Amino acid sequence: MTLTEKILARAAGKSSVQAGDNIWVDADVLMTHDVCGPGTIGVFKREFGKTAKVWDRKKVVIIPDHYIFTADSLSNRNVDILRAFAQEQDLPYFYDVIDDPAGQWKFDATKGLLQKQYGSNYAGVCHTALPQKGHTRPGEILFGTDSHTCMAGAFNQFATGIGNTDAGFVMGTGKLLIKVPETMRFRIEGKLQPGVMAKDVILHCIGEIGFDGATYRAMQFDGPGVASLSMDDRMTIANMAIEAGGKNGIFEFDARTQEFVEGRTRLNGTKSSFEPVFADKEQKFVYETVIDLDKLEPTVACHPDPGQRKKAKEMGHIKLDRAYVGSCTGGKTSDFVEFARVLHGRKVTIDTFGVPATPEIVGDLQNTRWGNQTIWQILVDAGVRMTENAGCAACLGGPVDTFGRMNQPGLKCISATNRNFPGRMGHKESQVFLASPATVAASAIAGKITDPREYVSN
Ligand code: SF4
Repeated sequence: MTLTEKILARAAGKSSVQAGDNIWVDADVLMTHDVCGPGTIGVFKREFGKTAKVWDRKKVVIIPDHYIFTADSLSNRNVDILRAFAQEQDLPYFYDVIDDPAGQWKFDATKGLLQKQYGSNYAGVCHTALPQKGHTRPGEILFGTDSHTCMAGAFNQFATGIGNTDAGFVMGTGKLLIKVPETMRFRIEGKLQPGVMAKDVILHCIGEIGFDGATYRAMQFDGPGVASLSMDDRMTIANMAIEAGGKNGIFEFDARTQEFVEGRTRLNGTKSSFEPVFADKEQKFVYETVIDLDKLEPTVACHPDPGQRKKAKEMGHIKLDRAYVGSCTGGKTSDFVEFARVLHGRKVTIDTFGVPATPEIVGDLQNTRWGNQTIWQILVDAGVRMTENAGCAACLGGPVDTFGRMNQPGLKCISATNRNFPGRMGHKESQVFLASPATVAASAIAGKITDPREYVSN
């Protein structure tokens, strides 16, 4: 069996499964956020009753992150609904924006969009926060009401996005009916070269198969090259399995996975036991390819979908209006480190926005020094508008006052985010070009799409 089949078989209490089987599986974690949480709660209450209790209060994780730092009252109301539900159900893992359980978050205009407007329990973007807070464990099943839930596949987990109806059902029963997906294998060899990042790996893979090339399939990343990829790298790659239509993305378990998961579960006091899965010798794949990291070049996915792959060095004719580094995919500490490495001592020439995915990442950037400067200060000195308000921000547009949102038609943005369908970051007539943080940095300096190796090699 493949990695995905092994996890699904175990969760179904079966000795084996194969692609196409329909099986009931037990969920280990159900995650929801402020966009889908209220709808999920509505389905749960309608189907199980107004006084029903969730199936396991320690397995429901609620992370408001999408439309947070906005004066839009309907968005604020969504977080209020989550807060009330968490209190009613006595949920231990609700990462509220504010510290006062009886309070309500209000936009503070004196702090504006750049200064921190959250309390001590706020966790930031759900997919990045889940592993940081110790909720991702090898061999487990994670369902989340968000398509990029597949990011947790980096941790040798079956993680997939589900709709509010399914999530309401899981909330009441802890179970879900799943069709076992076929598995596509991406065997990774070699080592990433300077100026090339994990984002280039996944943009390359999606370019190979198209933005629907993995529809309802598992994307399995294995092979000797995986060992050289950090957990952040693996998260970037697994995150974008859905951009090829994938049901899930999944990595093999190794010492790095173990170290990360054990460290995070210990730090947060979450469940620390887990049982990874290892692939059998005999595995059935519906597709196989080899990705040689040594040969990869900085890659861009052009408007209007993540499968429109081109090499950055061939895109110099595309002039840009803005640049953006952030999101679950591209707003991790390592993403900002590579962003800063290219920008160090240089200036951006277009509007450039930086949105760390979580408060912990804000802390990393503000506390890590290169010489006598922090990484945060290096980015600010380069002209990047860095916000402490970690969250989804303009990755999916959001209310009109969202930091970094593209509010005018015709704007072209190079972005370290993961999705570029029309209107994704705001105006439906704006365009988004997906790239690594290093390519975003080089392009922000030049004002046009630029291969970062021009700067890295210097
Ligand atoms: S950062 Fe973007 S892709 Fe990630 S969860 Fe938020 S909106 Fe979705």
